[in-house]
Amino acid sequence: MEDHHYDDLKIILWLILFLVFGIIIITCKPENKDYVMTVNGPEAPGKLGIALEHEHILVDFIGADSTGYFRWNRDSVIERMIPLIAKIKDKGLRTFIECTPAYLGRDPWLLKELSRRTGIIFITNTGYYGSQKNKFIPESFFSENAEELAETWISEFRNGIETSGVKPGFIKIAVENDSVISPDHRKLVAAAGLTHLRTGMTIASHTGPDHLAFGQIEILKGLGVHPSAFIWVHAQRGTLEGITEAAKQGAWISLDNIRYRPGLESGAPNSIEWYADRIEAMKSALLLQKVLLSHDSGWYDPSKPRGGDINGYTDIFDYLLPELTSRGFTKDDIDQIMVKNPAEAFKIRIRKLR
Ligand SMILES: [Zn+2]
Repeated sequence: MEDHHYDDLKIILWLILFLVFGIIIITCKPENKDYVMTVNGPEAPGKLGIALEHEHILVDFIGADSTGYFRWNRDSVIERMIPLIAKIKDKGLRTFIECTPAYLGRDPWLLKELSRRTGIIFITNTGYYGSQKNKFIPESFFSENAEELAETWISEFRNGIETSGVKPGFIKIAVENDSVISPDHRKLVAAAGLTHLRTGMTIASHTGPDHLAFGQIEILKGLGVHPSAFIWVHAQRGTLEGITEAAKQGAWISLDNIRYRPGLESGAPNSIEWYADRIEAMKSALLLQKVLLSHDSGWYDPSKPRGGDINGYTDIFDYLLPELTSRGFTKDDIDQIMVKNPAEAFKIRIRKLR
């Protein structure tokens, strides 16, 4: 009898232990915590480390009606790109945020293999690129409404991209550089807003000038999406007043295309000093925590022999960061821009207007 009693006690103790561990495991699930979505699944934002928030591995400009994975050989792309990735890894890079949308050369299998081979964290996206007269948008877009478009992108977030098992970590869209946002592109922005509200993925939109940024922010606000869910891509084409105002509202200011251009005079638009001036102005306005930086570089072009000429990803480390340091930026300031801001911007979290 005594032995049986002891057995019962053991079973109860095991059950308690099982329950406690179960609770620990459930509360530790990434759904209940801040996370970012990498090509290898959810990851703690603190693991991203130094990140480049807008770069490209491969871009195929042939158009949505003709592109496909058959257009490139993954092994050739990997062989060409690995030495370039190794160079930024040497600079301390941990995370490469790949901004190539679907129908423009997005390849989740390629990114996953590059991540495995280099140890770099890759993040990919969902969404459509509307710029360049909808050349990179599939035909189905035109007969679908914003809700239907959002369903496609939400499905990629929940079930993965095609059969790759890779889930997108953000929404990438692009609007045309016109005087107003066209009805088609208003639909694109609305679909991104609806997708955000259901998934928490941040919206990075190829934008450019002020009026397009504020036009998109207004569409998103109309849906109840907070501006902090919006990355103003190519904000270097906006005015200083514009980027300051958008950042005050909470939007992310992505200064892209940062490259050392030997032909440019020091301080001329798009020179390293010019970018440093902008970043310094944002620091003075106490808005450094909204700044994102990238080369918008790469990329392997499948229509060219061996992928053509490819820009590397090191100019920010080689030229811009030393320039900022010489202007009195501290290690904490640099850490803010290169580590903390990307981790915060790409967190999967629904940001609603109150
Ligand atoms: Zn880009």
